Amino acid sequence: MADVSPLRSRVTGPVLVEGDDDYAEESLGWVRNFIHTPDVVVGATSAQDIVEAVKFAAANNLAVRVQGSGHGSHAAVTDGVLITTKRLESVEVDATTRIATIGAGVAWDAVIAAGGEHGLAPITGSSGTVGAIGFLLGGGMGPLVNSYGFGSDWVREFEVVLADGSLVTASTDEHPDLFWALRGGKGGLGVVTSAKVELVELATLYGGSLTYEAANIDTALHAWASYLESADARVTTSAAILRMPDLPFIPEPIRGRTLLTVRFAFTGDAATGEGLAAPLRAAAPVYLDQLGEIPASAIGTVHNDPPNPTVGWTTGRMLNSVDQAFVTALLGFAGMDKQVPFVAIEIRAFGAAQATDVADGSAVGGRGAKGSINIVGVPNPELFATVIPGAAAGLLEAVKPWISPENNVNFASGFDGAENYRRSWSPAVFDRLAEVRIKYDPKGLFAFGVH
Ligand SMILES: Cc1cc2nc3c(=O)[nH]c(=O)nc-3n(C[C@H](O)[C@H](O)[C@H](O)COP(=O)(O)OP(=O)(O)OC[C@H]3O[C@@H](n4cnc5c(N)ncnc54)[C@H](O)[C@@H]3O)c2cc1C
Repeated sequence: MADVSPLRSRVTGPVLVEGDDDYAEESLGWVRNFIHTPDVVVGATSAQDIVEAVKFAAANNLAVRVQGSGHGSHAAVTDGVLITTKRLESVEVDATTRIATIGAGVAWDAVIAAGGEHGLAPITGSSGTVGAIGFLLGGGMGPLVNSYGFGSDWVREFEVVLADGSLVTASTDEHPDLFWALRGGKGGLGVVTSAKVELVELATLYGGSLTYEAANIDTALHAWASYLESADARVTTSAAILRMPDLPFIPEPIRGRTLLTVRFAFTGDAATGEGLAAPLRAAAPVYLDQLGEIPASAIGTVHNDPPNPTVGWTTGRMLNSVDQAFVTALLGFAGMDKQVPFVAIEIRAFGAAQATDVADGSAVGGRGAKGSINIVGVPNPELFATVIPGAAAGLLEAVKPWISPENNVNFASGFDGAENYRRSWSPAVFDRLAEVRIKYDPKGLFAFGVH
């Protein structure tokens, strides 16, 4: 292993190798099933720290990987330089231009809070603890996707350290090919140190969820599919079959129960939102009604994703449509009368806004999809290698006719083979991404893809 003392003298943040105090803690991400053991972990405190770490890696033929919050870990890192960005947590909002400048380690919650002070909101995902940059690099589909499209459609600029150690701006004016690739192409391009994202004017939402008991899942899920046939384009909905463990930390109303929760977000006024939600409220008896007017800053309550680090197994696909026959096939494999090792099966529905690309184009995969399916296994690592992947494969086979050949990298949850990596984009975008990666990272310093 290369001598890290010259790097230590040039970097302000911690530079740690195995055996150092804090090495394990610094390498740890949100997904706790992977224990990372890189050759070196560099806790960046500035863009310059990242420049130094990249130059060190290049000089020593070490692969570079980046960890923001660690929500996207899908394999243990066992070599190279791991750059952690969690200390780059600045958020500055210019209320006049509606631009937020965010550091590489910022989680969405911080942007939501800073924007909220000005009646502004970022286009985020379902969880506020997810890293904003990691999310945006994959495109990013959240509870407002039908109103505002992908999160990456709202990025105006990335600041990036390239493989040669230079710090550049990628925007529609500077390095436009790199900017195209960073908006959805995810990895193998460089290390983003900060981004400028446009916020939208949004103070309140009609949003939240309607939860139905097990006996009503069939009726309510079919009613949701029927609702989608003529749903107002401004409404974003999703549905999740939840099998909640009987554990003390789970809130009492949902503990140990199988439930269906339908999430709803509408960016207009509450009276209109209530009218638009009425068919879902009437679909079946509602067990928990948590839908109403909320501050836009409470957007995390629409999905109520788990905020705390955890072990986990997930996989996802894009869907060509979400219709009655799909629901029948889904429930035929994973309905309430079935035994499946999943805590959640989430179906999201997409509309026109996410299908419309930005004017200059972007590398986002799955843009034309009509929905997504995300399968979350029970949090038992003993089942992660065999039982859960096997059951997930069975479910995906049952709904195969609805699965789009093109996925989205944020939903792919790991590349377990070359095909899985390839299908995170259309063939044309995959090939163009490969060209941009070779141009900016000719030696493949930034490890990304099948691993
Ligand atoms: C609970 C949960 C909810 C989610 N909800 C959504 C959702 O609603 N919509 C959606 O689209 N996705 C969602 N995701 C997926 C999530 O957007 C991706 O996993 C994303 O990559 C996480 O980014 P991160 O920084 O949090 O994770 P990390 O594991 O830190 O980063 C993931 C990858 O992003 C890249 N990356 C991160 N930071 C940088 C950087 N500064 N420079 C270069 N590359 C970088 C690297 O390739 C890294 O391996 C969710 C994931 C979880 C676990």
